[in-house]
Amino acid sequence: MGLKSDSLIAYNILEKRIINSGLCTQCGACEAACPVGALHIEGEKVKRTYDCSKDMDLCPICYEICPHSEALLLRSLSFVADAPVKNEALGYYRKIVLVQAVDPKIRELSHGGGVVTSLLKFGIENKVFDSAIVSQGELENPAKPKPSVALVPDDILSAVGSKFFPSSVAKAYGSAVYGYGKTNIAFVGVPCHVLALRKLEAWQHKISGNLKITIGLFCFGTLSLSALLEYIKKKYNVEPSDIKQIRLSSKLVFQTEKGEIKLPLSEVSDHILPSCRKCTDFTSELADISVGGAYPLKDWSTVIIRTKAGEDFFYKAVENGIINTWVIEEEPTVIERVMVAAMQKRTAGLKKAKEMEETSGYLPALLLRETDALANIKIGDIMAKNVKTLTQNTTVHQFLDLVARNHHIGYPLVNENNEPVGWVTLEEAASVDKNKRNETLVSQIARRKLVTAYPDETALDAFKRMSEIETGRVLVLDRADPKKLLGVVTKTDLMHILTKAVNNR
Ligand SMILES: Cc1cc2nc3c(=O)[nH]c(=O)nc-3n(C[C@H](O)[C@H](O)[C@H](O)COP(=O)(O)OP(=O)(O)OC[C@H]3O[C@@H](n4cnc5c(N)ncnc54)[C@H](O)[C@@H]3O)c2cc1C
Ligand code: SF4
Ligand code: SF4
Ligand code: SF4
Repeated sequence: MGLKSDSLIAYNILEKRIINSGLCTQCGACEAACPVGALHIEGEKVKRTYDCSKDMDLCPICYEICPHSEALLLRSLSFVADAPVKNEALGYYRKIVLVQAVDPKIRELSHGGGVVTSLLKFGIENKVFDSAIVSQGELENPAKPKPSVALVPDDILSAVGSKFFPSSVAKAYGSAVYGYGKTNIAFVGVPCHVLALRKLEAWQHKISGNLKITIGLFCFGTLSLSALLEYIKKKYNVEPSDIKQIRLSSKLVFQTEKGEIKLPLSEVSDHILPSCRKCTDFTSELADISVGGAYPLKDWSTVIIRTKAGEDFFYKAVENGIINTWVIEEEPTVIERVMVAAMQKRTAGLKKAKEMEETSGYLPALLLRETDALANIKIGDIMAKNVKTLTQNTTVHQFLDLVARNHHIGYPLVNENNEPVGWVTLEEAASVDKNKRNETLVSQIARRKLVTAYPDETALDAFKRMSEIETGRVLVLDRADPKKLLGVVTKTDLMHILTKAVNNR
């Protein structure tokens, strides 16, 4: 008689690596995907209500589709990888535009341009989809999301605005399919929610065929309600049961019987979920359409259109006069801030993920794993040639202008003999005081430690070198003349190759 191995039941790994390690962000994808309905989110935790291993020998589902596992990442990336532009900070995309709702009431109620609400309302009214997964506010606590299946425009309107606590939107997606019999569903969520849905598609789970379009939100993190309540108890001696309402204005406001406690957002951000600290996706890189803030512009959103489906839907809404668009290149500060935020989140997330690997032996999501394909590819075949370089006289202002126009976030710095001597990225440039950008030269802020390779080395060599010093790119030099720059390879180029390799399997 064959022995049943615990490792073949995905729940055991999910429980150990994700749930008990505090990495669950309560998306509910495991609950929606479990074939025997064994999983339920209760409070802030996923619970298994019966031991599925009694009836099954093997089930990989819940761990693989969890957005915080390392499984299925490349297959998930393949849903957006046919977009013409691949950008180190923002992922794959077709177009980036500034957008706002034409309806001023929607703009007023939202935290941005009211774009998501306008697009969803238009889609429901015009039967582009039959339902939408949104996060309304709870009646008692409007800041706390209530994941819901929106069926009519009013349901969409009542979900306007961001709520900064976890929302089990993937669970609601499961209800739309199983409970409401919906077959054409629009989905809105933060990057890990979108990843969960993409993983369901990559897994070819039976509920994934009902997904029509994904709208991803930019995200720096969601807050742990229990951690915040604990903090308030300690600092203000207020029991959770005394809190009557939580709402968000410029501060997070807790209404208690004795009055209001107002927490500034800087204080609140200490309580983001552990998963958010190792998360590397700021702009929902796997969504059909991504939407985020357009700081410093008020009432506008930054919209990144990634897929053909996203593009068709978006421009249908534009043609119907639902949303206004504006050219993002005319507002260089907006794109600069989005790219800097994305790179900062990626750098911090990769660092944290590496620390976690060292302590737990387990590598959380979003680091490259499938390296075999890289070992067979020569750097010379994949490097970008004719790379634009910066001279010693280029100012930070000129560099930022170049970034805003081309959306590339880093360039090599060369000396008077055209030899590479440094590397300049948006991260360093953005930290230069705005008033000093005209007189500061990029040569003053350049990273001088160069990571280099030769065209006859492999893509795996390039990847290892990038990982060792936590940079995202290598300069490719001529072996016969090692001061001559031939090209550049970035981590995004490597992801692109891996995605192609997975698609061709
Ligand atoms: C947790 C969180 C963190 C964010 N962090 C940033 C950031 O750092 N920088 C930035 O530029 N933008 C961030 N955003 C996105 C930003 O707040 C807006 O949601 C986005 O710009 C869309 O604006 P809008 O006016 O078009 O959306 P609206 O028209 O107001 O629609 C918002 C939509 O978001 C959905 N939603 C609200 N809360 C949640 C939630 N918790 N989970 C899933 N869906 C939800 C609602 O269903 C609604 O349909 C964040 C959003 C969230 C939810
Ligand atoms: S049956 Fe459900 S809980 Fe058990 S391993 Fe499969 S998906 Fe996970
Ligand atoms: S799939 Fe979602 S709800 Fe389930 S463990 Fe992972 S993050 Fe938590
Ligand atoms: S920061 Fe990442 S893990 Fe945290 S809620 Fe946002 S997308 Fe999810």
